[in-house]
Amino acid sequence: MVKAVVGANWGDEGKGKITDMLSKEADIIVRFQGGANAGHTIVNDYGKFALHTLPSGVFYDHTTSIIGNGVALNIPVLFKEVSEIVEKGVPMPKILVSDRAQIVMPYHILFDEYEEERLAGKSFGSTKSGIAPFYSDKYAKVGFQVAELFDEEALKEKLERVIVQKNVILEHLYHKPALKVEELFATMMEYKKMVEPYVCDVSAFLYDAIKAGKNILLEGQLGSLKDPDHGIYPMVTSSSTLAAYGAIGAGIPPYEIKKIVTVVKAYSSAVGAGAFVSEIFGEEADELRRRGGDGGEYGATTGRPRRMGWFDCVASKYGCRIQGTTDVAFTVLDVLGYLDEIPVCVGYEIDGEVTTDFPTTAKLEKAKPVLEVLPGWKEDIRGIKNYNDLPENCRKYIEFVEKQIGFPITMVSNGPGRNDIIYR
Ligand code: GDP
Repeated sequence: MVKAVVGANWGDEGKGKITDMLSKEADIIVRFQGGANAGHTIVNDYGKFALHTLPSGVFYDHTTSIIGNGVALNIPVLFKEVSEIVEKGVPMPKILVSDRAQIVMPYHILFDEYEEERLAGKSFGSTKSGIAPFYSDKYAKVGFQVAELFDEEALKEKLERVIVQKNVILEHLYHKPALKVEELFATMMEYKKMVEPYVCDVSAFLYDAIKAGKNILLEGQLGSLKDPDHGIYPMVTSSSTLAAYGAIGAGIPPYEIKKIVTVVKAYSSAVGAGAFVSEIFGEEADELRRRGGDGGEYGATTGRPRRMGWFDCVASKYGCRIQGTTDVAFTVLDVLGYLDEIPVCVGYEIDGEVTTDFPTTAKLEKAKPVLEVLPGWKEDIRGIKNYNDLPENCRKYIEFVEKQIGFPITMVSNGPGRNDIIYR
């Protein structure tokens, strides 16, 4: 059976923890989109880890971890992550890399930096991991698939052709040094050495695995609102963050995805620019940021402070719908235990009208939050294992959110660890 674990919001919902937890029952975990631009933070028996490229299932020795064709593959980052986890005592994971995955080139990272520099105040808040230039090149058909590393003649010829165009932009738009084909070719040969033992026809591998009845987890990065089609365009990422794309980015039939576990966080946080209707500021935000997640709400990749907000029912209802949610995992609820009262955004007021439908970007910019205030529970709920043992106001909060978003909350996460989970 194939399950997807995806986010309903702006990312950082705790997908890594939920994937790590569900990986116990999985044979194969597949990353199907995105790159090293976002990170998952995982706490388990080996310690605390920030993963950017590796699937969150690498900590179990019964699982195979796959980099699907939809991923922006940064080869040195992948292998740096592998050595970091192995150094901390994790057994060497079984890894497969799709022969159709495309490679983040060193110049993609440069272009990302240069473009942010050029846009200055109007930038998108990129993590400068080369993701937007990478996907631009993929769809402009000047990207490099892993398989291309194995035909040196053709590779050199293509590099020469592609670099001509890159150098024009480097010189005339960014006023930066030109790229040299020989240097890039040498780097590509190093990449080849690193990746060679793991290259595989992933869609064929998964086809057989599905036939053999294996449990497969598709692991999404970021969340619905960062999807280039259905999110807050243009303040989005460059690959689809939706479970549906899991079929494409892994190379499996869409009808095989039977369960879509959408991770929804009990309050809001976002990184980068863009409208964020339920955002809070000042001391109120600082306190939630400090207490948030596991050790504060700071980017796993960049370390920058996340923007904070109250739970947004409008965005989360939409985020769950667009994912095709079958199950909601409601996370980091324990963090809210310090609040006397908890405001929740239940509607958007746009031009004097209140809606619960998530709008397109231009309207979203004008939306003001309609808040409802729920009573807090003022208790530490970590360690609780049964739903009925949660404080009454905490259950009421969960049930209120469930009603507003319209999808069943079947899991409640009350701590960062693997076992901090309450099934309903
Ligand atoms: P992801 O990208 O969706 O995997 O999310 P991140 O890893 O960026 O952020 C989630 C953060 O919250 C991590 O630091 C997790 O360890 C932590 N976390 C996940 N679930 C819970 C939870 O239920 N309670 C608390 N306190 N922290 C959690």
